[in-house]
Amino acid sequence: MDLLYKSTRNANETVTASQAILKGLADDGGLFVPSSIPKLGATVEELSKMSYQEVAYTVMKEFLTDFTEDELKACINNAYDSKFDTEEIAPLVKADGAYYLELFHGATIAFKDMALSILPHLMTTSAKKNNVKNDIVILTATSGDTGKAALAGFADVKGTKIVVFYPKGGVSPIQEKQMVTQKGDNTFVVGINGNFDQAQSGVKAIFGDKELAKEMDDAGFQFSSANSINIGRLVPQIVYYVYAYAKLFANGEIKKDEKINVVVPTGNFGNILAAYYAKNMGLPIAKLICASNDNKVLYDFFTTGTYDKNRQFVLTMSPSMDILISSNLERLIYRIAGDDAEKNSELMKKLNTEGKYDITDDMKEKLADFYGNYGTEAETAKIINEIYKETGYIIDTHTAVAAVVYDKYKKETNDDTKSVIASTASPFKFTRSVMTSIDKKYDELGDFELVDELSKIGNVKVPNAIEEIRNAEVRHKTVCEVDDMKNTVKGFLGLK
Ligand SMILES: *Cc1c(COP(=O)(O)O)cnc(C)c1O
Repeated sequence: MDLLYKSTRNANETVTASQAILKGLADDGGLFVPSSIPKLGATVEELSKMSYQEVAYTVMKEFLTDFTEDELKACINNAYDSKFDTEEIAPLVKADGAYYLELFHGATIAFKDMALSILPHLMTTSAKKNNVKNDIVILTATSGDTGKAALAGFADVKGTKIVVFYPKGGVSPIQEKQMVTQKGDNTFVVGINGNFDQAQSGVKAIFGDKELAKEMDDAGFQFSSANSINIGRLVPQIVYYVYAYAKLFANGEIKKDEKINVVVPTGNFGNILAAYYAKNMGLPIAKLICASNDNKVLYDFFTTGTYDKNRQFVLTMSPSMDILISSNLERLIYRIAGDDAEKNSELMKKLNTEGKYDITDDMKEKLADFYGNYGTEAETAKIINEIYKETGYIIDTHTAVAAVVYDKYKKETNDDTKSVIASTASPFKFTRSVMTSIDKKYDELGDFELVDELSKIGNVKVPNAIEEIRNAEVRHKTVCEVDDMKNTVKGFLGLK
């Protein structure tokens, strides 16, 4: 029987997996969640003998039950191929007392590639399955990494167009260069004079615009979302936690059924939610350690039970985590409310009107598996420096936030459970912050001189993704105001 998906805000709207992937967001503004979380269909012994692609199939088939075996395997094999610069796809590196799960070996060297290299295939397969004739227009707000990964995934994919909004001045120079040089006739990149939350709210408003949806349909278009609210992104992210666990077991690092902790540098709460789903599938995970930067809404939430976005938005050196509204948290709220769409809607309405909400004590108890903390800018720089000096391993700024929080967790709890740290970006993506954390003197160098220096001192090859943009032509120069996002989209699509 098919696993159906429900909206977090309306118990009555159910759709199949392929329909949920096509729609992105439910009509009522809620997120799609599986009506129950399936169990892992293989033992750890079995998983430990599988390739990444085989683990992906084993995990994803439980969630995407309306895909045939051939369809799903084709999606997986088209996604996890030589676009990744390592056959393992997601290698584990042991350093400084933890296991770094490197999720940055894809086309755009951030963990977003793990999901966004498969999403276009899931999306076009879903369109076929549902007899969709319109072109799919992917609309995305990005804090830096999603945008490029989505552009790379959808560029020149037939039957699709993609529009990406990013906060002008709110992403790293390398991130911006990666996006504005994107090739493909179906790609559009726009800087907005605003921050990521404004970009995300603008995109949500466009999605919710019924009149525009009608105009689009008349012109042969329909929107979908590549943001991490799409279950077509969430499900592929569960895979690497299962894979990492199986690898630890295969390598004799853990015993059968031994529990591990998972540490995740968090922004929109997508990556850590995938780990939570993995745990709910039966993967032996003890603590889910949620690491924030100075935008520590989630830390405050886990410690007090109040989610409050009314605060100063801070630009940090981990920009992909500069977020005050973590969209995917809604899926967790829904679950700890006992899959209660009404209760969840009430809280989300409060978030919308007052910018905050409180959860009940009962709900708070169900968060016992989570631990939240944050890393300041100084702590983040310091740990990059220390890990490099002690081990020679260079981590990026986001991963460094996780390393800081992991240290705090160990000091606070004396818990020595083996831990996997999600390493979410290559240090080459945030070269200036990484290199000046190692030594201030590097600040004098240009962006690409820094790249070469990082390669030298870290003894790692410059990734393809960086070589590609060294001399690439800037193709996207549009900048718009937040209020003008809708008109900008209409302009691209030739709608009046
Ligand atoms: C997107 C991103 C994050 C945050 O992931 P979420 O799923 O939004 O919590 C962390 N690090 C990097 C490098 C990212 O690109």
